[in-house]
Amino acid sequence: MKNKKTDQTRRSFLKGMAAIPLVTFAGYQTAAQAGAHGIMLSVDDPTAKALGYVETSAVAGKNCANCNLYTGTEGETSGPCAIFPGKAVTAAGYCNSWIPKM
Ligand code: SF4
Repeated sequence: MKNKKTDQTRRSFLKGMAAIPLVTFAGYQTAAQAGAHGIMLSVDDPTAKALGYVETSAVAGKNCANCNLYTGTEGETSGPCAIFPGKAVTAAGYCNSWIPKM
C-alpha cells in the first residue's frame, strides 16, 4: 500500500533538488559579474538613484574616471567610488556628486 503523504513529500523534495542547480547558477552569475572591485553598482540602487547615477555620462568632460571620488585604475572600464563602498561604478559613469580630480 502506497502512502500518499510520503509520495507528496518525496515529490516536493525532488522538485527542491531540481531547483538547486538554478540557484547555484544564479549565484555564479552574481559572482561572475563582480569585478575585482566588487559587484557593479546598479542604477536602481536607492543611493545611486538619489544621486542620479548613470553608467554613461551625458555631461561633457565629467565622468567617474575623472572624479576625485573614483579610485579605479586608469584604463579600466570600472572601479571603486568612495560613495558606494563594495561596489564598482563604470569609468564612463556620472552622478551628481562628481567633483574634479585633484
Ligand atoms: S561620486 Fe564620482 S566616481 Fe562616484 S559615482 Fe559619482 S561621479 Fe562617479
